[in-house]
Amino acid sequence: MSLKKYNFWLIVGSQDLYGEDVLKQVNEHAKEMVDGFNADPAIPGTVVFKPVVRNSQEIYDTIAAANNDPDCAGIMTWMHTFSPSKMWIPGLSILNKPYLHLNTQYNRDIPWDTIDMDFMNLNQSAHGDREHGFIGARMRLNRKVIAGYWKDEIFRSDMAVWMRAAAGAAASRKVRVLRFGDNMRNVAVTDGDKIEAAIKLGWRVDYYGVGDYIKLVEAVTDAEIDAKMAEYNELYIMDTDDIESVRYQAREQVALEKFLKDGNFCAVTTNFEDLQQLRQLPGLACQDIMRKGYGFGGEGDWKVAAMTHIMKLMADGLEGGTAFMEDYTYNLEPGNEMILGAHMLEVCPTLAKDKPKIQVHPLGIGDREPPARVVFETPAGKGIVVSLIDLGDRLRMIVNDIECVEHPHKMPNLPVAGVLWKPMPDLKTSAQAWIYAGGAHHSVLSYALTADHMRDLAEILDIEFIHINKDTDINQFRKELAWNEAAWKNK
Ligand code: MN
Repeated sequence: MSLKKYNFWLIVGSQDLYGEDVLKQVNEHAKEMVDGFNADPAIPGTVVFKPVVRNSQEIYDTIAAANNDPDCAGIMTWMHTFSPSKMWIPGLSILNKPYLHLNTQYNRDIPWDTIDMDFMNLNQSAHGDREHGFIGARMRLNRKVIAGYWKDEIFRSDMAVWMRAAAGAAASRKVRVLRFGDNMRNVAVTDGDKIEAAIKLGWRVDYYGVGDYIKLVEAVTDAEIDAKMAEYNELYIMDTDDIESVRYQAREQVALEKFLKDGNFCAVTTNFEDLQQLRQLPGLACQDIMRKGYGFGGEGDWKVAAMTHIMKLMADGLEGGTAFMEDYTYNLEPGNEMILGAHMLEVCPTLAKDKPKIQVHPLGIGDREPPARVVFETPAGKGIVVSLIDLGDRLRMIVNDIECVEHPHKMPNLPVAGVLWKPMPDLKTSAQAWIYAGGAHHSVLSYALTADHMRDLAEILDIEFIHINKDTDINQFRKELAWNEAAWKNK
């Protein structure tokens, strides 16, 4: 999973009025900017220079080419000079890629002593980008606008956030989720409209009978299991004598990886209610495939499985892990309110503070052999939890800013990995807001991404975005939900 392979086209607008000399300079400046972006390690994708567009046909042709280039994950527009926006209507009407409008200027400071009308005619983004912004507003286009000097760190970091979101949207269009069985019986929030998800997000969610998987599990050879065990021994501390149980997870993982690769799947769901002849619920097997970037959802939760994969890709190269998570238990101690998040097995080892330990413990639910899993503690640090729900008439993304904390006590009898966090603005408000908004008990937790990444992704995917943060006031928040109800009815 690498973001560098995603291209972003810088399309600089102008018009013929200026003459060849000015347009040549515009191209040179744009090239210099592209080189500057690409030399900056903070810029996660590849920015591609496109020759200045001067009229309606050139704009249309460039946008049509961007639409049809599978490597192009978005366009970035900038009006170094003035580019009358009626010329942009045909092109923007067909745009189907994420759209970033950069309002910047080649020079930072006004050259007070030398400024003349030639300079003014070349450096016009202060008004050229306003004309361009109008047509985006007039056409009701989903877009992001960034303003500032193109060499500034904050400008670059805003760009980087949007590029990660745009890459996430491109990855979303390729999502294929492998589902073994259905959702856990009677559970509502993990289900939803898969047709809507295909239309809006590009997801393919394919059901397979667990028997298809069991055939592969049974066909795994001892040599394949040995090789997988060698990997486990590299990555993890073998903290059990029950090697047979670990070998069974290795067998399950080898089979699962074959299934995922053969079908070009990027995420998988399991359901402990539908294991048939499987001797263990896949635990370590699912944890270790998540480490590699696959998405996972427990109990048939295909939405969280796909989101886990997309967010892992968006976080490529950033510090901190991204994982499938579940709100489990509260610590309601006054002044130290926290949530303990975990899952019955499947917490991604990218969250681990130290080298994870492989252990084997009975599962308190279901009727199978005790499954092997990796157990670990998680570090302190800022993060987010994200839930995607289906409200019937639309998809809603809910994000809560959180502060993960070091584990204050050992939990010797808890045989799973866990994360402890303080949700913003406080547990009481956060939990109320999350529940009013309909957020799931399953989520994706990320130390690497921020609400800004997810806001940009929601804008690109054209889905509702709800952010619970340090400024959330519960009564204002309830009004926001009510207003959104009206706003989305009119979309
Ligand atoms: Mn669960």
